[in-house]
Amino acid sequence: MSTDNIYDPIQISNEFLSGQEISNQVSIEQGFNVEIFEVSKNLSFIKNFGNVAVFKYGTKALLIDTGMAISSNQVVKILKQWGIEEIEYIIYTHGHVDHVSGTDIILNAFKTDLLKIVSHEKVVERFDRYKKTIGYNGIINQRQFGLPTPVFPEDFRYPDITYQDTFEINFNDSVINLIHGKGETDDATYVYSSKEDAIFTGDFFIWSLPNAGNPSKAQRYVGSWGEVLSDISKYNAEYLFPGHGPLIKGKKIIKEILLNTSDCLLWIEENVLKLMNQGNSLRDIQNKIRLPDKYNLPYLLSSYDDFTFLVNSVWRQYGGWYSGIPSELKPPSLFEMGCAYINMAGSNENLVLFLKSLLSDKKYKEASVIIDSVSAVEPDIYQDLKNLIYSSLSDEESSLMAKGIYNFNVDM
Ligand SMILES: [Zn+2]
Repeated sequence: MSTDNIYDPIQISNEFLSGQEISNQVSIEQGFNVEIFEVSKNLSFIKNFGNVAVFKYGTKALLIDTGMAISSNQVVKILKQWGIEEIEYIIYTHGHVDHVSGTDIILNAFKTDLLKIVSHEKVVERFDRYKKTIGYNGIINQRQFGLPTPVFPEDFRYPDITYQDTFEINFNDSVINLIHGKGETDDATYVYSSKEDAIFTGDFFIWSLPNAGNPSKAQRYVGSWGEVLSDISKYNAEYLFPGHGPLIKGKKIIKEILLNTSDCLLWIEENVLKLMNQGNSLRDIQNKIRLPDKYNLPYLLSSYDDFTFLVNSVWRQYGGWYSGIPSELKPPSLFEMGCAYINMAGSNENLVLFLKSLLSDKKYKEASVIIDSVSAVEPDIYQDLKNLIYSSLSDEESSLMAKGIYNFNVDM
């Protein structure tokens, strides 16, 4: 059967690109309502949290990513409705759980005699690393997405075939090209099909400022990400399947989006390095650097990651973790620092009054530095102020990551 394409991601893309206000297309809620859009009789886009692409050949499928496990039953239903009976290939664009954790549920619902899962070789190392950090990653997800409890899978479906630089799969009498690049992760693959004139970027494109700066994750690669996007633009594809958010159609707009995003990332890396080479501390750079207005584009907003975090990411990649400020090298415990603040103020009452005056001047960041320390000494006295400071900081932020961390410190 073919779908009637009631759901039209291309229309959503066009509205978004023309600057119209639309609902957040990269939120985790996108996975609660899985939709399919048929691009051609052999290729469909499946909207999910972690989109899925499906190539069809008879009743056989090649999937690019499998999405989050929470929505896999919906993906299975949609694949069956589209006439799929067997999964022959799965390509992982990278090893993040929102792209691979649906694999087991999907495979259990189809014939898999010919199955081969293909990924870049570093996906294996990632899964091994995840098994060492299940607790930590659960807490990150809880904090980042505002979930009620820590959530992270305990096991992963490993690839059957791995590659290093490039790989080719023959499916439906056509060649599907896999190309490795470093960006959000070191294990990333983008995929090209000349027959369908389509590029599958995985998370190299996600409809917001690239999340190369996540504060709680392993190293990400701002400059390399920019170079890869420039390479991807050279395929001149008619369709772009992003890792998150709606499908894009049109060679001209796709090239423009890819090159603007590339340019923005390369600008960030170049300018952070320039300031590093001049001897600035990390905090100086954070306060000096501003993203030029030309990057104020609907798909480069700090809605998921945050521009400042990308600055930190470049610093960590090239400069390690020392910030350049000597008091941050071996800082006192929060308890010790809290005692010092309270002594300096003369009493808790004086310090409460001082913090309230900072709040009335909207100096939330200054207040947060003090509150972290003093609430380690007297949690009961400072809890209400701490809630107020962090909820005010959260309200000022645009990115999901900054909001998530600030809100995690609000105890209502
Ligand atoms: Zn993702």
